[in-house]
Amino acid sequence: MRYHDSMISLVGNTPLLRLNSVTKGLRATVLAKVEYFNPGGSVKDRIALRMIEAAEESGALQPGGTIVEPTSGNTGVGLAIVAQQKGYKCVFVCPDKVSTDKINVLRAYGAEVVVCPTAVDPEHPDSYYNVSDRLVREIPGAWKPDQYSNPNNPRSHYETTGPELWEQTEGRITHFVAGVGTGGTISGTGRYLKEVSGGKVRVVGADPEGSVYSGGSGRPYLVEGVGEDFWPTAYDPKVTDEIVAVSDKDSFQMTRRLAKEEGLLVGGSCGMAVVGALKVAEGLGPDDVVVVLLPDSGRGYLSKIFNDEWMADYGFLEDAGHSASVGDVL
Ligand code: PMP
Repeated sequence: MRYHDSMISLVGNTPLLRLNSVTKGLRATVLAKVEYFNPGGSVKDRIALRMIEAAEESGALQPGGTIVEPTSGNTGVGLAIVAQQKGYKCVFVCPDKVSTDKINVLRAYGAEVVVCPTAVDPEHPDSYYNVSDRLVREIPGAWKPDQYSNPNNPRSHYETTGPELWEQTEGRITHFVAGVGTGGTISGTGRYLKEVSGGKVRVVGADPEGSVYSGGSGRPYLVEGVGEDFWPTAYDPKVTDEIVAVSDKDSFQMTRRLAKEEGLLVGGSCGMAVVGALKVAEGLGPDDVVVVLLPDSGRGYLSKIFNDEWMADYGFLEDAGHSASVGDVL
């Protein structure tokens, strides 16, 4: 019989898919690492598993313990699934701007979600940061993974994502492109690929315009999960050879093209990373193999990126090659 013992064994080993349409005119091969095939639907399952296993090994997380993390998104889902399978409790803290759909997903997996007001200073006792710190102090057996500073975040990519890409491309990968949020993906995967290739693989970060990684101050942008207004320790700037800044508009238009042309319903940071990958591929030849990592699925963004009204409100539909369809007022 061929079956998996638990959802945990389904983490990682995601497929590589060649992009065929958005790459027209390019000579290099562009391959996408499609991370929505992970059981929680995103790349974050990898770090959730590794951070929890390391905390078990160090004794920071004991049987029956509680995982407390300020997160509303993909990391929460990954932690919730692994915690549930291993018998830990989860308490996630998120700001009240987070959609009820995201909160309901976490609750569906059995996590407790504490919602904090967005409109207070970080120093306020009810702020997102202070509430999670207080819960860690007050709940017996509580442990906070802290994906921004936890070395097991980049380590999970060094141990899984990097080796998978090297094997899947039979060592022919020449460029690796990924969005940068905590920096765990690019630092861990990039470091492995540089080491195994003797420094030949070029590592390129994609970043929303305005974020610190591409020289900004952290000005607001709408792409979720990437860009920062501070430098997390999970990010190792020595690994990255280049950072490409991408606008929200270009990111979202590419995200829609990936669904329409490649059959890939993915999130906005995926569109952003693909724009970066295509820029990298522009000057390359037929022997070059560019791999771009796509962190999550588009299901969480249906009311934004895949909603014409939302896109039009921000002016993101202009010059998108939008053709008239039934129901359009002509
Ligand atoms: N895209 C999405 C949707 C994410 O949730 C994240 C994680 N914050 C990233 C990209 C960036 O990954 P990393 O944190 O490893 O830099």
